[in-house]
Amino acid sequence: MLKGFFNVPKAVNEPVKGYAPNSPEKDAVLSAYQNMWNSKVDVPLYIGSEEIRTGNTRNITAPHDHKHVVGSYHLAEKTHVEKAISNALASREKWANMAWEQRAAIFLKAAELIAGPYRARINAATMIGQSKNIHQAEIDASCELIDFLRYNVEFMTQIYNDQPKSDSTTWNRLEYRPLEGFVYAITPFNFTAIAANLPASAAMMGNVVVWKPSDSQVFSAKVITDVFKEAGVPDGVINVVFGDALMITDTVLASPDFAGVHFTGSTHVFKEIWAKIGANINRYKTYPRIVGETGGKDFIIAHPSANVKQVATGIVRGAFEFQGQKCSAASRAYIPQSLWPAVKEQVISDVKSMKMGSPEDFGNFITAVIHEGSFDKLAKYIDQAKKDADAEIIVGGNYDKSVGYFVEPTVIVTTNPKYTTMETELFGPVITIYVYEDAKWGETLELVDTTSEYALTGAVFSQDRYAIEVATTKLQNAAGNFYINDKPTGAVVGMQPFGGARASGTNDKAGSALNLLRWVSPRTIKETFVTPEDYRYPFLG
Ligand code: NAD
Repeated sequence: MLKGFFNVPKAVNEPVKGYAPNSPEKDAVLSAYQNMWNSKVDVPLYIGSEEIRTGNTRNITAPHDHKHVVGSYHLAEKTHVEKAISNALASREKWANMAWEQRAAIFLKAAELIAGPYRARINAATMIGQSKNIHQAEIDASCELIDFLRYNVEFMTQIYNDQPKSDSTTWNRLEYRPLEGFVYAITPFNFTAIAANLPASAAMMGNVVVWKPSDSQVFSAKVITDVFKEAGVPDGVINVVFGDALMITDTVLASPDFAGVHFTGSTHVFKEIWAKIGANINRYKTYPRIVGETGGKDFIIAHPSANVKQVATGIVRGAFEFQGQKCSAASRAYIPQSLWPAVKEQVISDVKSMKMGSPEDFGNFITAVIHEGSFDKLAKYIDQAKKDADAEIIVGGNYDKSVGYFVEPTVIVTTNPKYTTMETELFGPVITIYVYEDAKWGETLELVDTTSEYALTGAVFSQDRYAIEVATTKLQNAAGNFYINDKPTGAVVGMQPFGGARASGTNDKAGSALNLLRWVSPRTIKETFVTPEDYRYPFLG
């Protein structure tokens, strides 16, 4: 163990590169894209020091060109999951006992590898495998992931620094132990940064991990594992298994050493996992930590005093960037009658100006949705809206899956504030708008608060400070991330800690010390310098 209280580099947010025509970053990412597009990757399971190829494989394809195969990945069987657990546990003691600054160095190095030599590759993988345009790939796979790693190292040191009082007779210490067992990270398709952060944040605090990425994010998950390896994450600390989510989860949750789940994904899956943990509670050696960030039905409400252009831009960017597949994406909006004609005009003209196609063409704002299941679900709701008397599609409404899973950005206007698409998370480029009478501001806030089971993000647009105050108070529990005069997406690590409540998750705020605290089990150490040698207190005379 080295001697010294070490300071870590001050965390700074990674600047977002512009990818303007002829810029070096544009050339680099397009060259990486073309290389990856024209070769085939073979992604194994990563268990301990082994790369396991089970031979039972599935293709990796691009959502915007679903017949184009860019590789394949190997699916785990139950024995592989058990092996991942035993490798994690075998690596635990050494990793948990490693000095914190060594762990910090590994993850700081990972951040710099992504900022430099891996940037083009991780962005290109995200563009191909998850169909993000270059800006969306850059802010996620590069910048947000770099920020998670840098800030979490700083938060880790803040946590370790948080120590109880002592006096001259006793010295009190808090030791931030990792959990006793292993952590299970289950990650979604929609953010490369989240996929990396869920296993990395637990590992950074000294835990060993079994990580199950989404089937729709394997391409960039492979780059993440390459980065972690090069940065020096030891074998067995983060074990990666792909395949049948139910089987993998059931196998993991059956282990007595299961110590916590770090989940991001849909609400029903998280509730199912929670119920299984409850049913298995007598098996476990310790009460598992249950951390989950889940769905949203994120809102925009405009007050009659709002600026029309700002509202329309908030709707268009908030609802349609990355095809609406952000948990924070605006998917219901409440606009006063007095502003509606102007807002409507701008929203329609903005949407009509958006180009849709492959992310390789940087002129495309919109690309494909993630997979056929998502496409079919969106098509179903759009078709229903075309039939329903209380709904009208004012722009978009077309879809085509012949080449890629393309769904036009679609705006539904409803006269029914409880219309199905005002309440249900669709997770695609569809927003539903309810136009309210200007005088019904208070009632409309009530509607916003009570219309969906979720409480992830929401935004109010207003130039009237009283209205902002009323909305901020009334909607206190309607969103874990609340925006004033801004779209409800685009949280930045270190600036807007992210997470929601109600059915949207446990609100453990990714990108903050609050999240890292879930991955430690503090031990209090009291040391007495002059220890009593007689049981009698003075009052006994
Ligand atoms: P998903 O729930 O389909 O999948 C998430 C993960 O869970 C994947 O790894 C998947 O394989 C696994 N999974 C699926 N079924 C499972 C089961 N029965 N048991 C165990 N694991 C299972 O979600 P997705 O489509 O990848 O991501 C979209 C969802 O994630 C949306 O609901 C979105 O709102 C949510 N999300 C939330 C946040 C947040 O911070 N709140 C962030 C990103 C995404």
